[in-house]
Amino acid sequence: MKILRLFSKRKSQEEPIKDKNGKLGAALVGAGLGANTAASLKAIDLEGISNGAIKMPKLLKPYEIQENEKLTGALLEEAKKGGIKIENGPYNLNGSPQAYSNKVVYIDSRQSQQADTLAHELGHAHYDANEKAGKVGKAAHKAYIRLGGSKLFYKVSPVTAIGTGVASGIHKAKKEAKGEKEGKLSKVAPYLVPTTIVAPGLVSEVMASHKGMKYLKRAGASKKDLSASRKNLATAALTYGTMAAVNAGIGGISKHISYKKTKEKLDKEKGKDK
Ligand SMILES: [Zn+2]
Repeated sequence: MKILRLFSKRKSQEEPIKDKNGKLGAALVGAGLGANTAASLKAIDLEGISNGAIKMPKLLKPYEIQENEKLTGALLEEAKKGGIKIENGPYNLNGSPQAYSNKVVYIDSRQSQQADTLAHELGHAHYDANEKAGKVGKAAHKAYIRLGGSKLFYKVSPVTAIGTGVASGIHKAKKEAKGEKEGKLSKVAPYLVPTTIVAPGLVSEVMASHKGMKYLKRAGASKKDLSASRKNLATAALTYGTMAAVNAGIGGISKHISYKKTKEKLDKEKGKDK
């Protein structure tokens, strides 16, 4: 892929980033990764644009749910009553199951379920399965699934960020070559577009956790377990926010690289004309 070659060039040249887009992009990626989530690292690596400066994050150990088994059982019962299907797998390459897709929650029968995660996934499915579920949640989930579910964060949005960033960088260099200024939209697009595209995902994730907490309460979770679950689900939400920041950063860096490349090329062409 042409875009990825742009990134590998930068790696070998090891030039410091001087312009605004590059700096802001790097800062966003840095801030995102600073939250130390495995998911954001995965987001970078998936598209092969890790710059080697990224350190392995510490995996956060979830807070323990004391009555996990009892709660899990109650949640599975509740799911059936609510018209949510529970199925085994499918398992991805890391061995963990794809957790949710339209009215179906997938569980990994080879290991014990974490009740708070299960409640969160039921929260997602609730918005597809329940006719009376809130309109905003229903709409967000419809869009989320249409856009590819959580893939949106680690695949669709980074690719969109690169595409928007590259286009905007080329646009800026060409405009400048003509002695014109870059438009407002082109300026914000590398940050805004990848962030906007994940918006239904962010809304869905937050609503699923909110609904999940209600499921846990109904399942009879103790105060202690509710508090542990709330913290675990907040960490998960942070991961998605982190990925959104990383993706915006990728947009900025892409722009910086494509701007420089295009400018070099245009300058060379100009030199030939003389
Ligand atoms: Zn989720």
